[in-house]
Amino acid sequence: MALNGFKDIVPSEVELWRKVENTGRDIFSRFNFSEIRMPILEKTELFARSIGEATDIVEKEMYTFVDKQITMRPEATASLLRAYIQHGLYVQKPVQRLFTIGPMFRHERPQKGRLRQFHQMDIEVLGTPNPRVDAELMAMGAMLLEELGIPVSLEMNSLGCPVCRPGFREILLTFIADRKNELCDDCNRRSTTNPLRVLDCKNPKCREQVEEAPSIQKHLCNDCDDHFASVQKGLDSLNVQYSLNKFMVRGLDYYTRTTFEFITSDLGAQAAVGAGGRYDGLVEKLGGPKVPGIGFALGMERLVLLLQQQEVKIDSAKVDLFVAGLGEKASEFAFSLAHTLRQNSLNIAMDYEGRSLKSQMKQANKLNARFVLIIGENELEQGHAVLKNMQTQEQQDIEIHSDNKEIASSLLLRCQ
Ligand code: ATP
Ligand code: MG
Repeated sequence: MALNGFKDIVPSEVELWRKVENTGRDIFSRFNFSEIRMPILEKTELFARSIGEATDIVEKEMYTFVDKQITMRPEATASLLRAYIQHGLYVQKPVQRLFTIGPMFRHERPQKGRLRQFHQMDIEVLGTPNPRVDAELMAMGAMLLEELGIPVSLEMNSLGCPVCRPGFREILLTFIADRKNELCDDCNRRSTTNPLRVLDCKNPKCREQVEEAPSIQKHLCNDCDDHFASVQKGLDSLNVQYSLNKFMVRGLDYYTRTTFEFITSDLGAQAAVGAGGRYDGLVEKLGGPKVPGIGFALGMERLVLLLQQQEVKIDSAKVDLFVAGLGEKASEFAFSLAHTLRQNSLNIAMDYEGRSLKSQMKQANKLNARFVLIIGENELEQGHAVLKNMQTQEQQDIEIHSDNKEIASSLLLRCQ
């Protein structure tokens, strides 16, 4: 058995995964993003510094080799920024638009839509503070989900910046202190390390308590307030629907200003299919230049689950031609002919067990083969074979006197 929270993706599911990934790649290239791939292991310190010591991820969810101080990445942003800094990508282009797709690892309680190895498509724009880019990224996420046929709502907040957030933190601390006895232990603990997290506690009692909490949106400095307004203007101009959510604070410390989530109502508690935000101080904090950034990640398991729930089905790769050799000589001929046909880009299947014609036709049917080439022993000697169109049941005679290459080109024409 595979480990709890680790899952195989079996062939019948892979087509949906490819649909998700291919739609992503298509859209990322429309928006002029380049792909980057990073290793799965990084120094533990990279995640502690970026995601933040007092976050769930760093406190309890990371897969860390304690003796080696390395960690299997729980998310992609930190590694991507590490690579961006290491390779001086900011020198090549002042604005880098990058995406990456791959597995992430978090030791949390496995449930539907929540695994310990899961996969993300992660998109980052480095080098511009422009609020249009925030709007464009959200619009791109919305476009991707729409093209996949996954209905979501987009929720957005601003978390301010180092100028205005400390002031809001104080206001929030006063609010929390007044309700100390009503809040859960986690919230009371968080109120000293990370009080904003109290706003997104899932405990119903805490939720009720924070309903009236002050909104950070009302306590932004002028620059953050202008930025937030411009992001909304950008979304409006692209006709992207969204709502403002003062409770959304995100579980990672590096966010500044814009944060957002794509939410589905079809996956129970695992409501977020994608999330992200701006992190203007992070590149510098990790030892890079003073460069603003923004990004988001989509959870691929959840996207695939949603497509499965809608019963989206995709035909597996179609077999163009099933080559059925009958008897040893014909099978030998079929074996080498199949290879030449594959060199000519046809998708070929065949039998290897010397089965009867009836059984080979059955296999061809099962594979949804478009054509079957039947090569009998006697027919082979006389230099011909039968090509059967499995849809129309039409049969035609094919000459097989010549060499494999010529047979392949005549079959290519007929199997169009
Ligand atoms: P959640 O609120 O569901 O825990 P998160 O805020 O921890 O999500 P992020 O770190 O922002 O998630 O990651 C972005 C996306 O990755 C999420 O919206 C979700 O779709 C997906 N994701 C996160 N953790 C998991 C997991 N353990 N299993 C599957 N998908 C996940
Ligand atoms: Mg989480």
